[in-house]
Amino acid sequence: MKNKYCQSCGMPMKKDPKGGSTNIDGSINMDYCSYCFENGKFTRENISAEEMQLFVTAKMKEMGFPGFLAKFFAKGIPKLQRWNTKK
Ligand SMILES: [Zn+2]
Repeated sequence: MKNKYCQSCGMPMKKDPKGGSTNIDGSINMDYCSYCFENGKFTRENISAEEMQLFVTAKMKEMGFPGFLAKFFAKGIPKLQRWNTKK
């Protein structure tokens, strides 16, 4: 099973320059992008879904996306797998 979007930040996996992140054994992890996950660990381990939303919104604006689009995109973040593993 391959995810189309990073299950942490929502970025399309095909936009990931590395084509996915790496597991601790060096294999490719297709659930998370290389910005969120590396060598079996989250790069920002203690971030909350809300913080991720703010981060992604800021990042998208930086990349030239209009604010409304960035907000719309960030709205879907709490539904991603990473934020739904806890009971
Ligand atoms: Zn990501």
